[in-house]
Amino acid sequence: MTGPTGPTGSTGSTGSTGSTGSTGFTRYGITRDALGDLLAEWGEPRFRADQVWRGLHSGRPLEECTDLSKALRARLTDTLPEALRALTTAQGDDGMTHKWLWACGDDGAEVETVLMRYPDRATVCVSSQAGCAMGCTFCATGQAGFVRHLDAGEIVEQVARAAQAVPERVDHAVFMGMGEPLANYDATLAATRRLHEDFGISARRITISTVGLVPGMLRLADEHLPVTLAVSLHAPTDEERERLVPLNRRYPIAEILGAAEIYQRATGRRVSFEYAVIAGVNDDPEQAAVLARLLGGIGPPAVHVNLIPLNPTGDYRGTAPNRGRMETFARRLRVAGLHATVRRNRGTDIDAACGQLRSRHSVRAT
Ligand code: SF4
Repeated sequence: MTGPTGPTGSTGSTGSTGSTGSTGFTRYGITRDALGDLLAEWGEPRFRADQVWRGLHSGRPLEECTDLSKALRARLTDTLPEALRALTTAQGDDGMTHKWLWACGDDGAEVETVLMRYPDRATVCVSSQAGCAMGCTFCATGQAGFVRHLDAGEIVEQVARAAQAVPERVDHAVFMGMGEPLANYDATLAATRRLHEDFGISARRITISTVGLVPGMLRLADEHLPVTLAVSLHAPTDEERERLVPLNRRYPIAEILGAAEIYQRATGRRVSFEYAVIAGVNDDPEQAAVLARLLGGIGPPAVHVNLIPLNPTGDYRGTAPNRGRMETFARRLRVAGLHATVRRNRGTDIDAACGQLRSRHSVRAT
């Protein structure tokens, strides 16, 4: 799904292995049980696995987990390499937004992660796939096509590496980077459970964003995990939406809203709807009125609409409307009883929107 932010500050290169080690596991790809087996083979006491597992999810790099001996840290570092190698890093918003472009695993598939810092906490926006097959016309990732699914370890490591970069505690995670998370369902769910159970991020503070993959939405409703579901709608009618989101031909708006209602009933969580606002395309106050009628029937609780000014992307000519027009659109929704907010884009000076850093990097690399 489209990342929340946008991009062009300082960039730099850093290194790590980006491949699996002699065990076939990466640092965050290994399971708790496999870690226990590995440490038992090394003759470590049983409690050591808990200690290492806690260290891996503590927000500190393994090298700084000084409750483990130096020799063990060195052996783990060698045996369990990181899966992500930073190709570029960038900071914007006076250091409050960080972005990484990683090469993943043995094939070097490229993905992005964004970290948004606040005075006493931080949110990480993760990618669930390298590229995306959904082909949304306004999205840099969609324009570049699909490469592969990420595994759960590659998703979890994005949060771990981002958390290690700043002093604030990461207490929110959003699946709004590259890819459609529900198209990579098992890895997304496994990573979500790890973020909740091992990193201690409340399920309510984990947001899974979908462009409307109805079977995945229904499956997620059955998990009864109270994560926040965000549905990217972007237009109030099927005809308008199909021009932006090709998947709408398969799962039209009525089916998506039906699945959202089921999710809301199953979890008790308010569904939020994302709406990338594009001047002259979907920002007319009349379209706001149609959207309000469409979403007004869902709930209680009433749904939340998040209006996002479109970030410019290479092959799409659309632009965001001015702030006044966005506020007018939001007011029409509020008057109709919906919760509506206008998102302030973070990192527009560092290409922090989904797929932008990758596309700039590819251009530089060619
Ligand atoms: S193309 Fe993929 S990543 Fe881009 S907005 Fe659509 S679903 Fe999200």
